[in-house]
Amino acid sequence: MKPAPRSEQAARGGARVPLERKLERLGVRSREDLVLHLPLRYEDETTLTPIAQARDGRPVLVEAEVLRAEVVYRPRRQLIAHCRAQEHELTLRFFNFYPSQVKQLQSAIDNKLLLRAYGEVRGGWFGAEMAHPRYRLARAGEPLADTLTPVYPTTEGLSQAVLRRLVLEALDAASLDDTLPDTLRERYGLIGLREGVHLLHRPPPGTDLGALVERSHPAWRRVKFDELLAQQLSMRMAYRQRSAQHAPALPGAGPLLRTFRERLPFRLTGAQTRVIGELLGDLARPHPMQRLLQGDVGSGKTIVAAIACLAAVDAGSQAAVMAPTEILAEQHYRKFSAWLAPLGVRIVWLHGALKKAEKRAAIEEIASGRACISIGTHALFQEGVRFVRLALVVIDEQHRFGVAQRLSLRSKARSDGDEEPPHQLMMSATPIPRTLSMSYYADLDVSTIDELPPGRRPVTTKLVSDARRAEVIERIREACADGQQVYWVCPVIEPAQAGARLARGAARELRAALETHASLTRELPELRIGLVHGRLPAAEKTVAMEDFAAGRCQVLVATTVIEVGVDVPGATLMVIEHAERFGLAQLHQLRGRVGRGARASACILLYAAPLTPAARARLKVIYEHADGFEIARRDLLQRGPGELLGERQSGVPMLRFADLERDGELIRDAQQAAAEFLQSDPTRARSHVERWFAARHEYTSA
Ligand code: ADP
Ligand code: MG
Repeated sequence: MKPAPRSEQAARGGARVPLERKLERLGVRSREDLVLHLPLRYEDETTLTPIAQARDGRPVLVEAEVLRAEVVYRPRRQLIAHCRAQEHELTLRFFNFYPSQVKQLQSAIDNKLLLRAYGEVRGGWFGAEMAHPRYRLARAGEPLADTLTPVYPTTEGLSQAVLRRLVLEALDAASLDDTLPDTLRERYGLIGLREGVHLLHRPPPGTDLGALVERSHPAWRRVKFDELLAQQLSMRMAYRQRSAQHAPALPGAGPLLRTFRERLPFRLTGAQTRVIGELLGDLARPHPMQRLLQGDVGSGKTIVAAIACLAAVDAGSQAAVMAPTEILAEQHYRKFSAWLAPLGVRIVWLHGALKKAEKRAAIEEIASGRACISIGTHALFQEGVRFVRLALVVIDEQHRFGVAQRLSLRSKARSDGDEEPPHQLMMSATPIPRTLSMSYYADLDVSTIDELPPGRRPVTTKLVSDARRAEVIERIREACADGQQVYWVCPVIEPAQAGARLARGAARELRAALETHASLTRELPELRIGLVHGRLPAAEKTVAMEDFAAGRCQVLVATTVIEVGVDVPGATLMVIEHAERFGLAQLHQLRGRVGRGARASACILLYAAPLTPAARARLKVIYEHADGFEIARRDLLQRGPGELLGERQSGVPMLRFADLERDGELIRDAQQAAAEFLQSDPTRARSHVERWFAARHEYTSA
């Protein structure tokens, strides 16, 4: 963008941050971006409203004559302009004002200028009043605006007036050629881009304001379609680029896989069989797989991953499994060992409790190729681990990892000069709502396990006020007397936040866990009560989990370290303390820790009154729904895509105008159109993507 003239910058009071930087904060880096910086809402300054007709709650434009302007100090410093409008008194009140405003109002009196103020008019003690209205001075009879006034999303230090002028100047200079081919435009009944964008910036009188506000107006429809199309195109381009690379083909019909499929520990569900087919189909091709395997908690993703790993081993390659927590990595190690070690598959577990020499030995086994499958957390794969021929990377609970972390493991395969990227299998128990997977995950292939293994009993969910904690303790006593096991999950203290606050939050979380452990030990002296939390040394964590898994302790007090993946079928009761502090996905994951065995299970959500409306809404969803997809859909509704995407959003173009919930149909249209567009005119498709996303992202790379 052209730098603003010096004088202009100086005139904008306090402009220590250059204009370019402020615009950048809005995602605006070029003139074209300015043109596509669309209004949030509109103000109607096309008509004057008589004071008598101004109703509370609706902003209007009024015209008044200034009688007197003064600064008063009661009760706090304020600028007051006493005015008269159609024989009514009108007081304007400003708490934040510049000294120059007093002079300006004074000059209005001297020069017989009128004041046009936009805002809400309220009936006050001394007649009609407006608090800090937007206003300007005008000559009597000066024409009013002939279009609605757009209000743009802005940032600190950039006034609406300046931004509006910049946008409208850019609009007048822009050619706004249509990147969309006519055939597509006509098929989807869209208006021209130029027409649409002009209307949004300068809606003529008579424009359906309701449709503008609701963003259902044809102009909005066109803009949203273009944005969604750009997203689909960019994801599709990233996908194509990746699938053009070479990867080792893993045929999936080798002896190990065949033997294992004959000796499976249980009968696979239909859904597991189907997704295994999809996976093996991908792996057999000489291009890197990019597949997301989603399936609700307990749907049996682990065995699917093990089978994929065997395909790699059969082909003489290596596989790596990355888990977000040590507990989960260990559990995978145990399962994989039980299943695959009898076949002679060498599995290495990298963990924090390894002694120096042991660790060196493990790394050496991986580097020499003797280890076929390595399992660990992200931290462990970072330090000096080199593979000889890594062909498959499995990332469990992928949403817990950042893009950079996933990339770091993928890049391992290249460390020995081998340019071929490995196949990637990402797994997630947080199902992605359909609209989200159609948009933000459009660059991945998705397999879904939509069936639970047979014999699962639904978990009964109870909401219990923490005033009734004593009853819950009794319930635990009875359950344990009956040979059942119980998880007690301690509250999250603070949502994940960077830096010191996170550390403090973790410390308080730990203290809460220690206190709960102490009090439960006191209250339930006949039971063995274990404790596991993030600060525990790896070896002690292992012992605590083993004791619980083997039934040596009946109650496990835990922080959310057990949130994902932990599988102890004997546990039938879960108590979540301060359930109101947890997110929906977390509650669903936690509840999924029980109901894994043959006995009926329950989840008690202890909450502290009073609940905020948001907390109440979350608890209601988790109480009423057991299906992870439905819960994820509601989570998306309550929180928006940004948070659900987590780290992924850093690599993916975010949508500014389209809405996943309301624009489902447009997403489908855009998806269809993208395939055709890319086929028929790739160059033009690329310029379409650049128009919408050039400033905002680097193409998806993870
Ligand atoms: P998740 O999808 O949450 O990772 P797991 O892979 O941990 O689920 O599986 C949950 C439990 O169900 C494990 O104990 C696993 O051994 C068992 N399981 C998986 N598939 C089946 C099946 N087809 N029949 C019976 N049990 C199964
Ligand atoms: Mg799992």
